Amino acid sequence: MRRLKEATPESLVPLTDFEDQVVWEGCRSGVFNTKSVMKALYTTRGEVSWSKLVWGKGYVPRYAFIVWLLCKKKLPTMDRLRKCGVSLISNMCVFCKRAEESMEHLYFNCCMTRPVWAKVQHMCLTFRGSCSWDQNLAWLAAHLRSNSFADQLRRLCFAATV
Ligand SMILES: [Zn+2]
Repeated sequence: MRRLKEATPESLVPLTDFEDQVVWEGCRSGVFNTKSVMKALYTTRGEVSWSKLVWGKGYVPRYAFIVWLLCKKKLPTMDRLRKCGVSLISNMCVFCKRAEESMEHLYFNCCMTRPVWAKVQHMCLTFRGSCSWDQNLAWLAAHLRSNSFADQLRRLCFAATV
């Protein structure tokens, strides 16, 4: 131990005569406990603006999952699959076969799906015309937040359409 101390550069030698201590920074007391570990691991990151579109009373789990993927822009569309290195015979839209299949195309630009989406939006009083997904998501998240029956029904229609 003495040789180790002698070999230690002076810049690394502690300036105090106190013994080193192990301190757990996960809690105020500095004492390690599993509760503080769990708290550190599972801290909430805050609620996203669109959480009510995905999760809530009366939701169908499989719809919620697809809407969650859509909100995170993680739907396995052809453009995303190609970027991930998946070998595809064609990356064209499966409905119209006129453009590369992407989330924006499938939900807002495809001549085959756009009328369906627009009709459902019109029936649910959420019609916004031709907007991007980000604009639609922001609008839907801001306007369909209440727990009223009408908003719950609109959210369910949105999820079922997706
Ligand atoms: Zn299409």
